Amino acid sequence: MVVVGGGVVGLAIAWELVRSGRDVRLVDPEPASGATHAAAGMIAPISEQRLTEPALHAAAEASAAAYPAFLDGVPGGGGCGFEGVDTLLLAVDDADRRALDDIAARHPGEVEQVGLREARRLEPLLGPRVVAARRVQEHRVDPRALAAALQGALADRVVRARVVGLLPADADADAGAVTGVRLADGTTICADEVVVASGLGAADLPGMPFAPPLRPVHGDILRLEAPAGLRPFLTRTVRAHVRGSRVYLVPRLDGTVVIGATQREHGGAGVSAGGVYELLRDAVAVIPAVAELTLLETTARPRPVTPDNAPLLGRAAPGLLVATGFGRHGVMLAPLAAQAVAQLAEGRTPSLADPFRPDRFS
Ligand SMILES: Cc1cc2nc3c(=O)[nH]c(=O)nc-3n(C[C@H](O)[C@H](O)[C@H](O)COP(=O)(O)OP(=O)(O)OC[C@H]3O[C@@H](n4cnc5c(N)ncnc54)[C@H](O)[C@@H]3O)c2cc1C
Repeated sequence: MVVVGGGVVGLAIAWELVRSGRDVRLVDPEPASGATHAAAGMIAPISEQRLTEPALHAAAEASAAAYPAFLDGVPGGGGCGFEGVDTLLLAVDDADRRALDDIAARHPGEVEQVGLREARRLEPLLGPRVVAARRVQEHRVDPRALAAALQGALADRVVRARVVGLLPADADADAGAVTGVRLADGTTICADEVVVASGLGAADLPGMPFAPPLRPVHGDILRLEAPAGLRPFLTRTVRAHVRGSRVYLVPRLDGTVVIGATQREHGGAGVSAGGVYELLRDAVAVIPAVAELTLLETTARPRPVTPDNAPLLGRAAPGLLVATGFGRHGVMLAPLAAQAVAQLAEGRTPSLADPFRPDRFS
């Protein structure tokens, strides 16, 4: 089998296929350089407010639950910063507090009300503008470390090349049937099954039997480092509503903190100055000591987003599976995508993935 694209989704799929005994090649000129490079790594089926659609929420819950077993099988998977930790939800005014109440109402029994004194005990650097706090049990992982571990596990099954087209089957085969891929250097790789997992790159891949309805939603994200005197800076993931806008702070085990992320439908692919300003402004509003961190990195990447914010995951034609359009949730949904593709390759229909059929917009 050939997997096109080595972001977190393609890497997870390729590894799951290897584990199920398949002969696999993953083709990508620069693996993990797309949205995966930017991702914060929250595995947050409850605090992620955009997961209101029941099928997507069910998939997110199932994928989060599958993470430990998925990582267990990855050599080096233990070093990916996977942790089960609280997410602390914060508000700075009454309208923001109502947003926290909405999350609690959608997930009865899963969101704990936390008094401000207790919130400050949990996270001593909380600032005075915080007026309400809630707590949720969720997980996080370091996407760059996860991608590196999966690449290591796949070893020489990773082919560093660009796919410039899908190989069509003979004229008398089923419409759209695919038999392999063509690479930029003109060589081909034949395969009984091709999995297109190239994120936004799937939208203009020659030979696709349909045009995946994907659009880029750019995200700016920051990486900062806490000075020794301020460590541990945070222990929990913090997600704050700040006068109607949102910001999250994700601490990593190495003392760095990720602050994200904007959602830009328009504008260039580079880092937005306004986006950086808003992220820092809102982060400082809830954790004033953010102003004392060292800014290590500003990054922007486009997320591959579909019209209904759910992925395109399933069979597109004989010999062709598609796994793209993961939008804001590709890290969280990677184990589910990997399981679903492995089952589809065996001719089974994974029920959780059924609502995400790639032909649902045609
Ligand atoms: C700022 C930001 C923060 C995020 N935070 C989170 C988070 O906390 N939790 C979460 O679950 N998700 C998060 N996401 C979303 C997540 O990053 C994406 O959903 C996920 O990375 C999608 O993975 P992918 O493998 O489908 O695509 P990508 O990571 O974009 O990878 C696509 C790959 O395909 C390759 N490719 C493209 N075209 C071709 C071709 N023709 N031939 C060969 N290879 C090709 C590219 O080189 C690339 O490596 C975030 C995204 C952003 C931008």
